[in-house]
Amino acid sequence: MLKIWRRHTAACPHRARGRDVLKCNCPLWADGYVDGKRVLRQSFNTRDLARARKKAVALESSVFNLIFDAPLLRRSKGGHQPFSSSSRACSTK
Ligand SMILES: [Zn+2]
Repeated sequence: MLKIWRRHTAACPHRARGRDVLKCNCPLWADGYVDGKRVLRQSFNTRDLARARKKAVALESSVFNLIFDAPLLRRSKGGHQPFSSSSRACSTK
């Protein structure tokens, strides 16, 4: 999942209340979490929440494609190699 938060400036009155407070005009950032682990931290390069949410949708799909498709690709590539069965036999001794 992707979490949108504001990196409050030193002058922001909401700074003490934490980054989850979105009602100010500080720069917006995104954190991506998979299984409770943070896998991404990226600035949206905007202070506009509507724009950040739009970017978040695109970012989320690209990030999760990256995370979940990459191992699948690797696995299917390995399956095409002629030595994959023999290497598996070696590892089960
Ligand atoms: Zn702020």
